[in-house]
Amino acid sequence: MLLGPYILKQLRKRPLVHELRRQQPAYYAALPYSLQRRFEHRVAEFLQRKTFIPRGESFDVTLDMQVRIAACAVQLTFGLEPVYLSHFSKILVYPNRYYSTIFKRYHCGEINMRGYIVLSWKDFETGYRNSTDGFNLGLHEMAHALHLQNIIPHDEHSFLDVRHLRQWNKLAATEMQLRGQKADGFLRLQACQDEHEFFAVSAESFFERPQEFRTHHPEIYRALATLLQQDPAQGVYQL
Ligand SMILES: [Zn+2]
Repeated sequence: MLLGPYILKQLRKRPLVHELRRQQPAYYAALPYSLQRRFEHRVAEFLQRKTFIPRGESFDVTLDMQVRIAACAVQLTFGLEPVYLSHFSKILVYPNRYYSTIFKRYHCGEINMRGYIVLSWKDFETGYRNSTDGFNLGLHEMAHALHLQNIIPHDEHSFLDVRHLRQWNKLAATEMQLRGQKADGFLRLQACQDEHEFFAVSAESFFERPQEFRTHHPEIYRALATLLQQDPAQGVYQL
């Protein structure tokens, strides 16, 4: 019997979906049934588009790890029309922090305009293990990729609503200036480096401590919820 492309695709998806159901990441577990099916589909689509490259001796990026990384990207983008960060087709995974010969220091993650998302697996895991502290390497790097994907001339770009983005940029610029003048603040100081860091650091707290974010910065929180089309403080995953 000849199997059509749709059936073959469904068969290839099965182990990924099985793995996702076994893992039950918190975001996925909180979704209603119908949205879980949509989430599974997006995870499978994301994985089909990416090449995972392990770095380090006797280190492999297992299916379990691939699914967790894909689930992180889908969490961030779930409110939007499907977007798979297509410019970033390769995901480099190190077991631990790695030495950057360009910056001459150890890194736990970065994205690279040649199409790479780079992650330290240990730091990725730590980000999800402490899920309420506002530190999440995976969400941080995926947010960088999303922010850039929106402006890279590619098959996926300009998916963020222009008016929402303008409002976000305005609030971000004001807050970066204010935050830079104080020692303490809700968002860590790294957010003040530039608009890319502000977006990435905000995305971490948006998912990890949304109620506190909304209390401290109601306007910024609302702008990010509108931009990403989801509102985790209210348990709304697609606006
Ligand atoms: Zn960053």
